[in-house]
Amino acid sequence: MATKNRTAIVTGAAQGIGRGIALRLAKDGLSVTLADLPSSLTKLNAVRAEMEGTGGRCRISTVDVTKADDVNRMVAEHVADFGGIDVMVANAGIAITAHFVDTTADDIDRSMAVNVRGVFNCYKAAAEQMIRQGRGGRLIAAGSVSAHKGGEWQCAYVASKFAVRGFNQTVALELAKHGITANIYSPGATQTPMYDSIDEVVTHTEGTPRGSELAKVGAKVPLGRLAQPEDIAKVVSFLASEDSGYVTGQSIVADGGVYFV
Ligand code: NAD
Repeated sequence: MATKNRTAIVTGAAQGIGRGIALRLAKDGLSVTLADLPSSLTKLNAVRAEMEGTGGRCRISTVDVTKADDVNRMVAEHVADFGGIDVMVANAGIAITAHFVDTTADDIDRSMAVNVRGVFNCYKAAAEQMIRQGRGGRLIAAGSVSAHKGGEWQCAYVASKFAVRGFNQTVALELAKHGITANIYSPGATQTPMYDSIDEVVTHTEGTPRGSELAKVGAKVPLGRLAQPEDIAKVVSFLASEDSGYVTGQSIVADGGVYFV
């Protein structure tokens, strides 16, 4: 893998963990495509301004990761502008918060479309390019502690994240001969807009004060606090780096010590 001018795509980069990862990879010296839905363009522009303000090199791509054509275009334009791709961070995801009996078949389909088909589309488009380049690469996706154990309110989400973990293991086996690694980062509860909306649904349903679900989860973390996006970005920084070259097929749990793999 080239040591200079490495480049990365980060999906879901407009906010939350994806924003944190993108800023960190730029700080690490990578040129970064900030990718998110067209409806997130204003937020993407804000991340770009922040990144460029600290000397980072980046570009924006609007994309729906569920659509293979969008993702293929995103990768092709990234390669045309930056000359190649070294790291794909398939971070975009959704969390539908509902009890099992209230979950619909559509909830399952939407969760699988974004969280699984989205990762598949991103890995595939990036891997094809990395194989052509012949200098290896890093495929990285958002897992979750929910890729390891079931959790109340989240049957659609948990199903999708278990699928991502199994999918990633298979990709790791098949692409090892190309020097391409595949790993997922698996955060515990992390303070982002996604976790705010989980808190909103749970507290509204249970008639408890807004913020109390977050507080309850945070109180159970041995390291004494919820994760911030920067905590997760540090893990991804390692997975994206050349130093992680002998790590593949793994799910790296970063949850402050709640769950041991
Ligand atoms: P978030 O909801 O705050 O941000 C997700 C981003 O993904 C948004 O900007 C959204 O516009 C984008 N996105 C959604 N659907 C998309 C699509 N079809 N195409 C392109 N972009 C799309 O979420 P977050 O908390 O930052 O989570 C990021 C990832 O980390 C997700 O995959 C999530 O499942 C995972 N994760 C989060 C937590 C947590 O506690 N926040 C814990 C474990 C895993």
